[in-house]
Amino acid sequence: MERVPRERFVPPQSYDMAYEDTPLHLGHGQTISAPSMVGVMCSILDIRDGQKVLEVGTGWGYHAAVMSVLAGTGRVFTVERIPELAERPRELLGELGFANVVVIGGDGSAGLPEYAPYDRISVAAAAPRVPEPLVDELADRGRMVVPVGHYVQELMLVEKEDGKVTSRPRGGVVFVPLVGKAGYKG
Ligand code: SAH
Repeated sequence: MERVPRERFVPPQSYDMAYEDTPLHLGHGQTISAPSMVGVMCSILDIRDGQKVLEVGTGWGYHAAVMSVLAGTGRVFTVERIPELAERPRELLGELGFANVVVIGGDGSAGLPEYAPYDRISVAAAAPRVPEPLVDELADRGRMVVPVGHYVQELMLVEKEDGKVTSRPRGGVVFVPLVGKAGYKG
Protein backbone atom coordinates (compact mmCIF):
# COMPACT_ATOMS: atom_id res chain seq x y z
CA MET A 1 0.00 0.00 0.00
CA GLU A 2 3.01 2.27 0.55
CA ARG A 3 3.77 1.92 -3.13
CA VAL A 4 0.41 3.34 -4.23
CA PRO A 5 -0.02 7.15 -3.97
CA ARG A 6 -3.59 7.22 -2.64
CA GLU A 7 -3.85 10.99 -3.16
CA ARG A 8 -3.95 10.33 -6.92
CA PHE A 9 -6.91 7.97 -6.48
CA VAL A 10 -9.28 10.33 -4.65
CA PRO A 11 -11.42 13.17 -6.07
CA PRO A 12 -9.77 16.64 -5.78
CA GLN A 13 -12.20 17.80 -3.06
CA SER A 14 -11.04 14.88 -0.87
CA TYR A 15 -7.30 15.44 -1.41
CA ASP A 16 -6.70 16.40 2.24
CA MET A 17 -8.38 13.18 3.36
CA ALA A 18 -6.35 10.86 1.13
CA TYR A 19 -4.41 9.33 4.02
CA GLU A 20 -7.30 9.18 6.50
CA ASP A 21 -8.60 5.68 7.10
CA THR A 22 -12.10 6.43 5.93
CA PRO A 23 -14.32 5.76 2.91
CA LEU A 24 -14.60 8.76 0.53
CA HIS A 25 -17.31 9.90 -1.87
CA LEU A 26 -16.30 9.64 -5.49
CA GLY A 27 -19.44 11.01 -7.20
CA HIS A 28 -22.24 9.07 -8.95
CA GLY A 29 -23.45 8.09 -5.43
CA GLN A 30 -20.45 5.76 -5.03
CA THR A 31 -17.74 5.53 -2.36
CA ILE A 32 -14.11 4.42 -2.30
CA SER A 33 -13.34 1.92 0.45
CA ALA A 34 -11.27 2.91 3.49
CA PRO A 35 -7.62 1.81 3.06
CA SER A 36 -7.99 -0.62 6.00
CA MET A 37 -10.84 -2.37 4.14
CA VAL A 38 -8.65 -2.68 1.04
CA GLY A 39 -5.93 -4.17 3.27
CA VAL A 40 -8.34 -6.61 4.96
CA MET A 41 -9.76 -7.80 1.62
CA CYS A 42 -6.29 -8.23 0.11
CA SER A 43 -5.01 -10.14 3.10
CA ILE A 44 -8.04 -12.47 3.18
CA LEU A 45 -7.58 -13.07 -0.56
CA ASP A 46 -3.85 -13.79 -0.09
CA ILE A 47 -2.89 -12.60 -3.59
CA ARG A 48 0.41 -14.09 -4.79
CA ASP A 49 2.87 -13.12 -7.51
CA GLY A 50 1.76 -14.38 -10.93
CA GLN A 51 -1.93 -14.76 -10.13
CA LYS A 52 -4.80 -13.67 -12.34
CA VAL A 53 -7.16 -11.43 -10.39
CA LEU A 54 -10.66 -10.16 -11.21
CA GLU A 55 -12.02 -7.09 -9.44
CA VAL A 56 -15.67 -6.10 -9.69
CA GLY A 57 -16.14 -2.37 -8.95
CA THR A 58 -13.08 -0.31 -9.95
CA GLY A 59 -14.19 3.03 -8.50
CA TRP A 60 -11.15 5.28 -8.94
CA GLY A 61 -8.78 2.30 -9.05
CA TYR A 62 -6.92 2.43 -5.72
CA HIS A 63 -7.80 -1.14 -4.74
CA ALA A 64 -6.85 -2.33 -8.25
CA ALA A 65 -3.46 -0.61 -7.92
CA VAL A 66 -2.76 -2.34 -4.60
CA MET A 67 -3.71 -5.71 -6.11
CA SER A 68 -1.51 -4.91 -9.13
CA VAL A 69 1.52 -4.72 -6.83
CA LEU A 70 0.55 -7.98 -5.07
CA ALA A 71 -0.08 -9.85 -8.33
CA GLY A 72 3.35 -8.75 -9.65
CA THR A 73 3.95 -10.74 -12.83
CA GLY A 74 0.25 -11.69 -12.88
CA ARG A 75 -2.64 -9.57 -14.13
CA VAL A 76 -5.59 -7.69 -12.69
CA PHE A 77 -8.82 -7.33 -14.68
CA THR A 78 -11.10 -4.77 -13.10
CA VAL A 79 -14.67 -4.15 -14.22
CA GLU A 80 -16.62 -0.92 -13.60
CA ARG A 81 -20.31 -0.53 -14.40
CA ILE A 82 -20.35 3.29 -14.71
CA PRO A 83 -18.54 4.20 -17.96
CA GLU A 84 -17.38 7.66 -16.78
CA LEU A 85 -15.81 6.03 -13.71
CA ALA A 86 -13.91 3.49 -15.80
CA GLU A 87 -12.11 6.16 -17.87
CA ARG A 88 -10.16 7.83 -15.12
CA PRO A 89 -8.58 4.70 -13.55
CA ARG A 90 -7.69 3.45 -17.01
CA GLU A 91 -5.65 6.62 -17.68
CA LEU A 92 -4.28 6.95 -14.16
CA LEU A 93 -3.13 3.34 -13.74
CA GLY A 94 -1.37 3.58 -17.11
CA GLU A 95 0.27 6.90 -16.21
CA LEU A 96 1.49 5.58 -12.84
CA GLY A 97 2.92 2.42 -14.41
CA PHE A 98 0.48 -0.21 -13.09
CA ALA A 99 0.88 -1.92 -16.43
CA ASN A 100 -0.60 -5.30 -15.46
CA VAL A 101 -4.10 -3.84 -14.85
CA VAL A 102 -6.82 -3.89 -17.50
CA VAL A 103 -9.90 -1.70 -16.82
CA ILE A 104 -13.09 -2.86 -18.50
CA GLY A 105 -16.47 -1.11 -18.57
CA GLY A 106 -19.51 -3.33 -17.94
CA ASP A 107 -21.52 -5.43 -15.48
CA GLY A 108 -18.98 -7.42 -13.48
CA SER A 109 -21.69 -9.31 -11.56
CA ALA A 110 -22.12 -11.39 -14.71
CA GLY A 111 -18.40 -12.25 -14.67
CA LEU A 112 -15.75 -11.70 -17.34
CA PRO A 113 -15.62 -14.96 -19.32
CA GLU A 114 -12.97 -13.67 -21.80
CA TYR A 115 -10.13 -14.08 -19.30
CA ALA A 116 -11.59 -16.69 -16.88
CA PRO A 117 -10.75 -18.61 -14.75
CA TYR A 118 -9.41 -16.31 -12.03
CA ASP A 119 -7.19 -17.30 -9.09
CA ARG A 120 -8.64 -14.46 -7.03
CA ILE A 121 -11.86 -12.43 -7.28
CA SER A 122 -12.45 -9.26 -5.26
CA VAL A 123 -15.96 -7.81 -5.29
CA ALA A 124 -16.14 -4.21 -4.04
CA ALA A 125 -19.93 -3.83 -4.01
CA ALA A 126 -22.60 -5.68 -2.03
CA ALA A 127 -24.51 -8.53 -3.67
CA PRO A 128 -27.85 -10.07 -2.61
CA ARG A 129 -26.12 -13.48 -2.61
CA VAL A 130 -22.76 -14.85 -3.78
CA PRO A 131 -22.92 -14.21 -7.57
CA GLU A 132 -23.08 -17.59 -9.30
CA PRO A 133 -21.30 -16.43 -12.52
CA LEU A 134 -18.31 -15.41 -10.40
CA VAL A 135 -18.21 -18.77 -8.59
CA ASP A 136 -18.16 -20.43 -12.02
CA GLU A 137 -15.17 -18.29 -13.06
CA LEU A 138 -13.13 -19.10 -9.97
CA ALA A 139 -10.13 -21.35 -10.71
CA ASP A 140 -9.49 -24.53 -8.75
CA ARG A 141 -7.94 -23.55 -5.39
CA GLY A 142 -9.30 -20.08 -6.09
CA ARG A 143 -10.59 -17.55 -3.56
CA MET A 144 -13.17 -14.80 -3.73
CA VAL A 145 -14.20 -12.09 -1.26
CA VAL A 146 -17.67 -10.60 -1.67
CA PRO A 147 -19.90 -8.53 0.63
CA VAL A 148 -23.35 -10.14 0.81
CA GLY A 149 -26.47 -8.48 2.19
CA HIS A 150 -28.53 -5.31 1.93
CA TYR A 151 -27.88 -2.40 4.34
CA VAL A 152 -25.24 -4.09 6.47
CA GLN A 153 -23.41 -6.94 4.86
CA GLU A 154 -21.23 -9.89 5.68
CA LEU A 155 -17.90 -10.15 3.90
CA MET A 156 -17.90 -13.72 2.57
CA LEU A 157 -14.79 -15.71 1.71
CA VAL A 158 -15.63 -18.22 -1.02
CA GLU A 159 -13.14 -20.99 -1.81
CA LYS A 160 -13.13 -23.64 -4.50
CA GLU A 161 -11.17 -26.86 -4.23
CA ASP A 162 -11.62 -29.93 -6.44
CA GLY A 163 -14.94 -28.49 -7.60
CA LYS A 164 -16.21 -28.13 -4.02
CA VAL A 165 -17.26 -24.59 -3.05
CA THR A 166 -17.27 -23.38 0.55
CA SER A 167 -18.33 -19.97 1.92
CA ARG A 168 -17.41 -18.51 5.28
CA PRO A 169 -18.35 -15.16 6.85
CA ARG A 170 -15.38 -12.94 7.66
CA GLY A 171 -17.00 -9.95 9.35
CA GLY A 172 -19.58 -7.18 8.97
CA VAL A 173 -19.01 -4.51 6.30
CA VAL A 174 -20.87 -1.72 4.46
CA PHE A 175 -20.54 -1.36 0.69
CA VAL A 176 -22.54 0.30 -2.09
CA PRO A 177 -24.85 -2.15 -3.92
CA LEU A 178 -23.66 -4.36 -6.74
CA VAL A 179 -26.03 -3.38 -9.55
CA GLY A 180 -26.44 -5.89 -12.34
CA LYS A 181 -27.53 -9.28 -13.56
CA ALA A 182 -26.33 -11.21 -10.50
CA GLY A 183 -26.68 -8.14 -8.24
CA TYR A 184 -29.45 -5.71 -7.32
CA LYS A 185 -31.68 -4.08 -9.92
CA GLY A 186 -30.51 -0.54 -10.85
N1 SAH B 1 -12.60 -0.85 -5.40
C1 SAH B 1 -12.81 0.58 -5.16
C2 SAH B 1 -14.14 0.88 -4.57
C3 SAH B 1 -15.23 0.70 -5.51
S1 SAH B 1 -16.75 1.37 -4.99
C4 SAH B 1 -11.70 1.13 -4.31
O1 SAH B 1 -10.63 1.27 -4.82
O2 SAH B 1 -11.90 1.45 -3.16
C5 SAH B 1 -17.82 0.24 -5.78
C6 SAH B 1 -17.88 0.38 -7.28
O3 SAH B 1 -18.60 -0.74 -7.77
C7 SAH B 1 -18.60 1.63 -7.76
O4 SAH B 1 -17.75 2.38 -8.57
C8 SAH B 1 -19.78 1.04 -8.57
O5 SAH B 1 -20.10 1.81 -9.72
C9 SAH B 1 -19.25 -0.33 -8.94
N2 SAH B 1 -20.26 -1.34 -9.31
C10 SAH B 1 -21.48 -1.57 -8.78
N3 SAH B 1 -22.08 -2.60 -9.42
C11 SAH B 1 -21.20 -3.06 -10.36
C12 SAH B 1 -21.22 -4.10 -11.32
N4 SAH B 1 -22.28 -4.92 -11.46
N5 SAH B 1 -20.15 -4.26 -12.14
C13 SAH B 1 -19.08 -3.44 -12.02
N6 SAH B 1 -18.99 -2.44 -11.14
C14 SAH B 1 -20.03 -2.25 -10.30
